[in-house]
Amino acid sequence: MNTSAPTNTSNIDLAAALADAEQRYEAANPRSAERHRAAAAHLPGGNTRAVMYYPPFPVAMVRGEGCRLWDMDGHAYTDFVSEYGAGLYGHSDPVIRETLEATLRDGWVLGAPNAYEARLAAALCERFPALERVRFCNSGTEANIMAVSTARAVTGRTRILVFREAYHGGVLTFAHGGSELNIPYDYVFADYNDIDGTVAAIRANAGELAAVVVEPMLGGGGCIPATREFLVALRQETEKAGALLVFDEVITSRLAPHGLHGEHGVFPDLVTMGKYLGGGCSFGMFGGKAGIMDRFDPASPHAFSHGGTFNNNVLSMSAGLAGLTRVLTPEASRRMNGLGDQLRDRLNDLFGKHGVGGIVTGFGSVMNVHFVSGPVTTPAQLEGQDRRLFQLFQLEMILRGQYITSRGMLALSLPFGQQEIDGFADAFDDFLRTHRSVLPRPVGGG
Ligand code: PMP
Repeated sequence: MNTSAPTNTSNIDLAAALADAEQRYEAANPRSAERHRAAAAHLPGGNTRAVMYYPPFPVAMVRGEGCRLWDMDGHAYTDFVSEYGAGLYGHSDPVIRETLEATLRDGWVLGAPNAYEARLAAALCERFPALERVRFCNSGTEANIMAVSTARAVTGRTRILVFREAYHGGVLTFAHGGSELNIPYDYVFADYNDIDGTVAAIRANAGELAAVVVEPMLGGGGCIPATREFLVALRQETEKAGALLVFDEVITSRLAPHGLHGEHGVFPDLVTMGKYLGGGCSFGMFGGKAGIMDRFDPASPHAFSHGGTFNNNVLSMSAGLAGLTRVLTPEASRRMNGLGDQLRDRLNDLFGKHGVGGIVTGFGSVMNVHFVSGPVTTPAQLEGQDRRLFQLFQLEMILRGQYITSRGMLALSLPFGQQEIDGFADAFDDFLRTHRSVLPRPVGGG
């Protein structure tokens, strides 16, 4: 079965190419299709997590090993989704597995401080320079809610500056003007990497601004790295305005051995993290300056109370500790991120080779393919892309054994090697060659 070979209708126009890809995808994945249909009886649209839906239906996975996945219909993939960054250790790291097995042998839901949480806190503070004290929670969303609520409480102010198209969690999402489900904080919006506009917005709101929340690389908004000058300007202006600077490093902490704040040498007041730092189990963390975080000391007068049944659950704490201290060494981080840099350069060269208007943005091991001519420094430049291009790209890459996200985001994991990078570059080369006629042409100098 060669499911990757497009038929001769695929280069007529985009609609025909997409219809052709969908037909081959549906024919190749009957079990995933059936699972999706059946799931809709009790999960709305068969889904419980927005990014896990894409048309016509998602492939369902049954097994993972290293950086490989196998779906219900028996196809093998290289995993470029990497659980949106949380799968940094891959699917079967022996240290994580042994740790989880040993933790399970000792019992779980202990309902008390355990042997791991303080050691994980110490390891995080040692690794990430902006962390003096931390607290744990269960997701990146929760970490950001806690950071924003903390900023409002310590400053006695209400307003929060966020960036258009940023994603900080299911109830803190600012793509396309925001979501009806967002927490109704008093938001002010600015444009990512726009120093003048952001400085003006901070100054105009100075007396009421509790915090500026920013990702040092806009992740969900298209993997657009912040310039160091932009981050420095945010640091200076928040200080002047008496507002807290919060870095959301839920994705970006994996992009350099000491996070992107460590890489740039720009130190926020609070940092949020999540994803891989639970070793593959659910995880969130907010932390930063001791002067702020010590308000959470339950023995201090007027302490902030922060509960959470699973904040110190033994599986996340022990797997997170093992991963950070024994697997994700600074050398391992540099190697994985170096492979990401290499892949991004190769994919950009392939856009040039095939005369296709596209760019791969990102930093280290996380990147995003876009069908616009670069360079891209702010998400407004990504507007207007035909969504069908991403659908076509995703289905065609899945049909070529490369599991990728529906928005063209790719994330590597530690088990990746040269073979996986070469395999993806070859598949991408083939996709561009076979679909060149329905993809955009370069614009300007792009
Ligand atoms: N912040 C950023 C930058 C994220 O990318 C995400 C998740 N993709 C979150 C916060 C939310 O994390 P979680 O899904 O663990 O709630």
